[in-house]
Amino acid sequence: MISTRLLGTPTDSGSGGQRAVTMEKIASLCKRRGFVFQSSEVYGGLGSCWDYGPLGVELKRNITEAWWRDMITSREDMVGLDAAILMHPRVWEASGHLAGFTDPLVDCKVCKHRFRADQLTEPRCPDCGGELTESRNFNLMFKTFMGPVEDTASVVYLRPETAQGIFVNFQNVLNAARQKIPFGIGQIGKSFRNEITPGNFLFRTREFEQMEIEFFVKPGEDEMWHRYWKQTRFDWYLKYGIDRARLRLREHGADELAHYAKGCADVEYEFPFGWSELEGIANRGDFDLKQHAEFSGKDLSFFDEERRERFVPYVIEPSAGVGRPLLAFLVDAYDEEVVQDETRVVLRLDPRLAPVKAAVFPLMRKEGQPEKALAIRDLLKRHFAVAYDQAGAIGRRYRRQDEIGTPFGITVDHETMQNDTVTVRERDSMQQVRMPVERLVDELRARVTADRAGVVATAL
Ligand SMILES: [Zn+2]
Repeated sequence: MISTRLLGTPTDSGSGGQRAVTMEKIASLCKRRGFVFQSSEVYGGLGSCWDYGPLGVELKRNITEAWWRDMITSREDMVGLDAAILMHPRVWEASGHLAGFTDPLVDCKVCKHRFRADQLTEPRCPDCGGELTESRNFNLMFKTFMGPVEDTASVVYLRPETAQGIFVNFQNVLNAARQKIPFGIGQIGKSFRNEITPGNFLFRTREFEQMEIEFFVKPGEDEMWHRYWKQTRFDWYLKYGIDRARLRLREHGADELAHYAKGCADVEYEFPFGWSELEGIANRGDFDLKQHAEFSGKDLSFFDEERRERFVPYVIEPSAGVGRPLLAFLVDAYDEEVVQDETRVVLRLDPRLAPVKAAVFPLMRKEGQPEKALAIRDLLKRHFAVAYDQAGAIGRRYRRQDEIGTPFGITVDHETMQNDTVTVRERDSMQQVRMPVERLVDELRARVTADRAGVVATAL
């Protein structure tokens, strides 16, 4: 079920070539064009929290919708779930988060800065050289109070992962959805971790979104399914255009594994700051269901009617973020090229992920061209996210769309007014073809929904 091309890739060194992209350029583009803003910026910003702007929210929705379509609705063995962020406090006792989800921290006695003890190379404060406190364990869960009384009995936590909402609903879903092992439950939602050293823009944030699957299998079939999910999730990033040379699957060493995990591998992308995790695919054994069965006193086993046997399923967990893949898609798509002595910045995003699918331009602001272009925009708007732009030279307007990854530019010109045809310009090749207006919706739909390989092969 797994092809050999995936195995043994941890030593991949990437494509090695010079890239135009830097994190500074991506962060600047994100702010300038409205992909991502710093949270609460008018108040000076809130550390490591980010807001998705008008283009960012479209890109993020396209990513989560692609994941949901590919992982949930197009499969017979998957169902979805949307569990609450606040859960019973006992959940975090059973999962081990209350006792074990900690970082060892030290404080500087002089400047009061806080550091992770395991990341310090010297026994003194890296900021001021001051003396440090003894290391203490600091839980990464955000704590708050539920109801009118702030006492220990009312403490609840913002979930640090979406996974537990799936485990505690295992029996509910099994009964309601009439599923049989093997099957999986997928969920997209916010999680929270009070990281002491966040950073690298969207890469490590305290509030983040996850796309998680818990796939329940029969013990003994777990390793086969673990291989299957490693391959499936690796291929998913390729399907949406990530450069094969900058993607790898890295198996965890024994020292990196959680105590309950039988195995884990990360899908990693080569960011400008180095190879970093996009997604972890773990074989969690029966740890989670057994823990919740013990702590809740409820039976969380599965009875196989055909074989007349009862067992606690093993779990394969492909767990991705949303922000990290979004950042990887942006970084990977970013390109600069010199066209007619000018540098063109272009986001070569897969058309399915692109925030805007097409932009409509009147070549001139006369002859009724703007009115015609607006009518075409309104026609397309019922099917796609479409932009309209009549400001400035046509070359500038193309560049503005190239920079945000809009795959198609549609121009209304003198000839349009004669025969109802427009030019359609393709973002990557910059080639143009003429097309009747009546064919636009079908043509764009075919090109926007095609696999990227297909788009390139049939490029306009
Ligand atoms: Zn200090």
